[in-house]
Amino acid sequence: MSMKFDVIVNGPLEVNTYLVFNGVGECYLIDPGYDGDKIYKIVKKHDVKVKAILLTHGHFDHIGATNYLVNLFKCPVYLHPLDFKMVKSPSLNYSIAFNQPISLDVELSDITKLNNPEIEIIHTPGHSKGSISIYFKKDKLLFSGDTLFNKGVGRTDLYGGNEVELNKSINKLLLLDEDVMVLPGHGEATTILEEKLNRSI
Ligand SMILES: [Zn+2]
Ligand SMILES: [Zn+2]
Repeated sequence: MSMKFDVIVNGPLEVNTYLVFNGVGECYLIDPGYDGDKIYKIVKKHDVKVKAILLTHGHFDHIGATNYLVNLFKCPVYLHPLDFKMVKSPSLNYSIAFNQPISLDVELSDITKLNNPEIEIIHTPGHSKGSISIYFKKDKLLFSGDTLFNKGVGRTDLYGGNEVELNKSINKLLLLDEDVMVLPGHGEATTILEEKLNRSI
């Protein structure tokens, strides 16, 4: 049974919010960044139950609609514990800089303990300490957050950023099979092969 996904581009920073379907009426919601109402309507249109919200990291542009959607979907929220502090702090998640302070007031679960054998959580620090990439192994889909982009990598000048760590994380991701599809937090999809070639130029 093959997973499928949908992407909802939303918010001023055009974050990619993803729905990943498991084929039995459920989905994971990745990075509900901004427009809760739009995301809610699209989930309803697909007529699926949201199993969980998965956050690739704690920046405001990836978490903005989380409080709103948890109230509606009554689902758990998973992210890396190293970014727990960020999602609660409008200054650390940078929402304060955009005059729309965001603080998650929902229960947070440790994504490294996500109990699904089809999903591998790869810790990819560097853009933030708790940045992770979510790998749906069977379908070879990698949700890379702000770590690996189409022809680029994440910035390291924000809170918790570290260039040495980021480079290690990128090298770790580039060891995946070349035909893995990479679905970043912003911009177009790519593949491991394309990004390997891009890095070696
Ligand atoms: Zn970010
Ligand atoms: Zn972002």
